[in-house]
Amino acid sequence: MNVIDPVRAFHLRFGSHDLVELFKEFIEKVLAPKGINHLLLECNTSFVFESHPEITDGTLTKQDAREIAAVCKNNGIRLIPLFQCLGHQGWGGAPNSILKAHPEFDETPYVPLDAKWPEIFCRSWCPEHPDVNQLVFGLMDELIEAFDADAFHVGMDEVYEIADDNCPRCKGKDRADLFAKAVNDMHGHLVEDRGVEMFMWGDRLNDSEKMGYDQWEGDTFGTHKAIDFIPKDIVMMDWHYERLDLYPSIGNFIEKGFTVIPACWFKTDAAINLLNESKHQAKEKRAESKLPGMIVTSWNNWDKESFERFITMPPNPFGCDEKLEELDELYRTMEIITKNLSNRM
Ligand SMILES: [Zn+2]
Repeated sequence: MNVIDPVRAFHLRFGSHDLVELFKEFIEKVLAPKGINHLLLECNTSFVFESHPEITDGTLTKQDAREIAAVCKNNGIRLIPLFQCLGHQGWGGAPNSILKAHPEFDETPYVPLDAKWPEIFCRSWCPEHPDVNQLVFGLMDELIEAFDADAFHVGMDEVYEIADDNCPRCKGKDRADLFAKAVNDMHGHLVEDRGVEMFMWGDRLNDSEKMGYDQWEGDTFGTHKAIDFIPKDIVMMDWHYERLDLYPSIGNFIEKGFTVIPACWFKTDAAINLLNESKHQAKEKRAESKLPGMIVTSWNNWDKESFERFITMPPNPFGCDEKLEELDELYRTMEIITKNLSNRM
């Protein structure tokens, strides 16, 4: 029998040289023993880029990356670097280091720096700017090389600033066309040129109205039609952090020919429900191989205290019905989801 080990993935944001030793301990003492075999490491601009020092906004060095990659490799964990593309270029009106260094890439340069939701969620770069890809591909190449990665996650969740009426290049264009173009550009570089597997978040490809989602886990704004104009070998991570009755996007991705990995957050009850519903849909479509596993995401600030809390946690400390603080519930969710995925799906 050919038994395929299910994907048991964990996501976190990390970009601190000072925490590397603790992070390596966390991988060895927590992630590996719990059975995690994929680590989605969101570095964004916190890597010390040698090709573009002006973009660097953190302290994670190439040597750090090599050490983290080695620990993962020794523990059978596939490391996937994540670099937010297109959207999430800052927070609110505040630009990130890319748009600070290259204000010409900003899709909405007229939005005030102190603007807040709902005026703006996050800035985007302009997918039609002729120089933006060259810069971004260089940053991706550095991350792929430093982590010796065979896969790359381009983010692309929650992109709301696209086809802005004031952008001289994008004005009047279709949002789905522009979103698909950006995805295809990334795919051209990562998959076709570099030969690595491409991952992305799925929310902008979910038709909220049809699927009963809100404006966050699905699109209400015009990007979802891009789903039919992008390559099917992109692995979709479809996140749902609250308990819902149905998650039709899981089945939709499978039907369209994509491999899909459902993504939960810390809420145990919602995570188990999402996994069970996803398995049910894959089975119904006789496409279990298109649902290789699940990812547990974390959105807390991983500081010294939180790493230490996980490292010192006793085994199986929590019952399923207990109300817990977010970090403790995240630990329990990781434990339960990985256990659920310990056998063939
Ligand atoms: Zn534009």
